[in-house]
Amino acid sequence: MTQLIDGKRISQEIKDELKIEVQKMKEQGISVCLAVVQVGNDPASTVYVRNKKKACAYVGIESRAYELPEETTEEELVKLVEELNQDDTVNGILVQLPLPRHINEDRIIRTISPDKDVDGFHPVSVGRLWIGEKGFVSCTPAGIIQLLKRSGIEIEGKNCVIVGRSNIVGKPMAALLLRENGTVTVTHSRTKNLSEVTSKADILIAAIGKARFITAEYVKDGAVVIDVGMNRDEEGHLCGDVDFKDVEAKVSAITPVPGGVGPMTIAMLMNNCVETARC
Ligand code: NDP
Repeated sequence: MTQLIDGKRISQEIKDELKIEVQKMKEQGISVCLAVVQVGNDPASTVYVRNKKKACAYVGIESRAYELPEETTEEELVKLVEELNQDDTVNGILVQLPLPRHINEDRIIRTISPDKDVDGFHPVSVGRLWIGEKGFVSCTPAGIIQLLKRSGIEIEGKNCVIVGRSNIVGKPMAALLLRENGTVTVTHSRTKNLSEVTSKADILIAAIGKARFITAEYVKDGAVVIDVGMNRDEEGHLCGDVDFKDVEAKVSAITPVPGGVGPMTIAMLMNNCVETARC
């Protein structure tokens, strides 16, 4: 029978573990504070920020909100981030992306101190990940590793194929699977004969951004399929990059959308916040 990998349950488990850890830290006089910066009022960003604040409250992390108007200049945002870098009462800094077009996202990401980079997007964090040094790891791929491990799925020696090579999912996913001793292949829009490559995967990770792109022909019998996609279909329903109905019977384990990878991202953000205060 196909195993449904329950991201809701596993993310709750992680948040509950963190809650206990944060409580113990508080008893030792250690507090954790996340600064959440949002520029403008993009509705999707507002929902993400609200969910992050809710998760902080649940785990016992203080969240300090900086809601800046759309017209905020790049210089003003850089100045705020620099102030937060210097502020000893702030452990982690999260600048919600995307930023308004007049602000250079790359410059803002590079302004965040690597020691407070809870999103794991700073080039120093990325470098640390690839050379196997301790540092912050991008939350979605870190969450996928937890999903696999906590579902009893072995990575070592497995043929892992990732579809997508973005800086926030595909590439860090490759580094993490490699760290777990998987044999990793990264595919993308220029990959030739994609289904031939993906159908050799023991573990297939789809991070494409195309509704129900991965159908049964892309998947090996008994594979584990992780669906990162969050798309809207023609009827406006939330769906993944994997055609769940087409693939489900063929695989040994699969994540649903919603309720798979999605909830893990915030749980791992909370973990990164707590990490800032761990000795
Ligand atoms: P990007 O658009 O940054 O990257 C998409 C990747 O898919 C690119 O590398 C692209 O290749 C590749 N791709 C596009 N079309 C094809 C194709 N036909 N064949 C093979 N590869 C293709 O997306 P993200 O990585 O940011 O996100 C991917 C999906 O995951 C989205 O649906 C997003 O909403 C979701 N997501 C979900 C998160 C969660 O918490 N659940 C968090 C982050 C993202 P190329 O590089 O050649 O262009």
